[in-house]
Amino acid sequence: MLDRPNTKAGWLARAADLKIEARAFIDGAYVDAVSKRRFEKVSPIDGRVFAEVADCDAADIDLAVAAARRAFEKGEWRDAAPAHKKRVLLRFAELIREHIDELALLETLDVGKVIGNSLAVDVPFCADCIQYYAELADKLIDEVAPVGANDVALIRREPLGVIGAIVPWNYPLIIGAWKIGPALVAGNSVVLKPAEQSPLGAILLGGLAHQAGLPAGVLNVVPGFGERAGKPLALHPDVDMISFTGSTDVGKLMLRYSGESNMKRVSLECGGKSPHVVMADADIKAAAEAIAWGIYYNQGETCHAGSRVLVHSSVRARLVEAIAEVARAQIPLGHPFEAASQMGALVEKHHMERVLSYIALGEKEGAQIALGGKRVMAETGGFYIEPTILDGARNDMRIAQEEIFGPVVVVIPFEDEAEATRLANASIYGLGAAVWTADMNVAHRLTRAIKAGTVWVNTFDRSSMATPFGGFKQSGFGRDRSPHAVDKYMDFKTIWTAYR
Ligand code: NAD
Repeated sequence: MLDRPNTKAGWLARAADLKIEARAFIDGAYVDAVSKRRFEKVSPIDGRVFAEVADCDAADIDLAVAAARRAFEKGEWRDAAPAHKKRVLLRFAELIREHIDELALLETLDVGKVIGNSLAVDVPFCADCIQYYAELADKLIDEVAPVGANDVALIRREPLGVIGAIVPWNYPLIIGAWKIGPALVAGNSVVLKPAEQSPLGAILLGGLAHQAGLPAGVLNVVPGFGERAGKPLALHPDVDMISFTGSTDVGKLMLRYSGESNMKRVSLECGGKSPHVVMADADIKAAAEAIAWGIYYNQGETCHAGSRVLVHSSVRARLVEAIAEVARAQIPLGHPFEAASQMGALVEKHHMERVLSYIALGEKEGAQIALGGKRVMAETGGFYIEPTILDGARNDMRIAQEEIFGPVVVVIPFEDEAEATRLANASIYGLGAAVWTADMNVAHRLTRAIKAGTVWVNTFDRSSMATPFGGFKQSGFGRDRSPHAVDKYMDFKTIWTAYR
């Protein structure tokens, strides 16, 4: 194994030497798209093309779904002994760990996140997730229902069949693992469609899973664009479920595709506009630190980023200054291969322009830029935006209602708890929220009143594989992580026997 580089030059040299596999992984082998088409993969770090990726479409999806169906019906994985499933998935997790440098590099080249985070968070969390579900393999216990004395009603879990997993680009390995882990341990076959911005880590995962002993066809990875590859997967009559993570608009399309095809199940992890509610008695220093990291980590490209700060008007100015101070002191923006960088590039030019247009819109709507607001490092050819605070906003402004998905936090004052509660819930989203107060009675009331999948109290973004993750309202339904995630990839069958 090569030594891990510890300088920007070292990582650039490693990137230049990297042999990138950019074909689809179908039925246990890497293959070109049927059409032979490829698309250019631009790195947001410097705007340069660094790979040509198989541009898959309906023909490739058909092949992958057929392979997945064949593997499922053959039953080699579906019916494997739990101990075997566990061994294979544990080996898969180990192989991910053994390939940490390569996977981290691919992740950073693909989406522009800093290499330190790819190494410390994205790859390890991906491996940990696969391990978590591996360890559930022999703990999925069926039930016996309480019925008459001479009847036995078994409630057995059964896998659904072929799962289409469609994932976004912000945490490609982690979110990919959140789908693959529980779907596979349940005995399903999977066709994974990574985002067009972030196909490379997923493509490598396909090969590693096979190397770990997963039979051909059980995990297929089909890169391509949403309309050309994602849509035929979601419309496919032989796919039993779509597990989707992405924007709310595309999530709604999944429901349509299901209705227009075979009524496949759908689970949706969609957008967010998560509020921090900062009461007058909050620990402002702690809140500011969590708010800054929560919105600037991963360039703000985090679905549950705390992008809406609701703050008691008496402490607003102090909080805003403290958030800015944390950003300046602790979260340097820089080249993603620099060890000191804590913020890197936004995923693509179009997305950077969209984020900048929201900052301009904020000013037009009457908010004030209290920090940042501009593109920087343009000379690199990459797509970087400063950590930004839009202060003095109102909750009915578009910048407070729409997901910006960049390093931009919107600050909105309130006067009392009732107003804070109303504003926190005045959103189409309900993914996450945080409450900052010294009064645990207030905290209790707010955590009960706020409609969100996770509500943190005097902290933010702490997470574990043991806790479910997902949203209320138009942030979606169905949960990733935790044993509950397995349920959505299985169904219950009742087997009723009458004895005499
Ligand atoms: P997106 O909705 O544009 O794309 C997500 C995936 O859907 C991609 O693989 C894309 O190719 C595919 N897709 C796009 N159009 C499609 C179509 N017509 N048919 C089938 N597939 C299609 O989202 P994105 O820009 O990749 O990711 C950002 C979004 O994801 C944000 O809204 C963010 O909040 C959300 N997200 C949510 C969670 C969560 O767990 N709730 C986690 C991460 C990201």
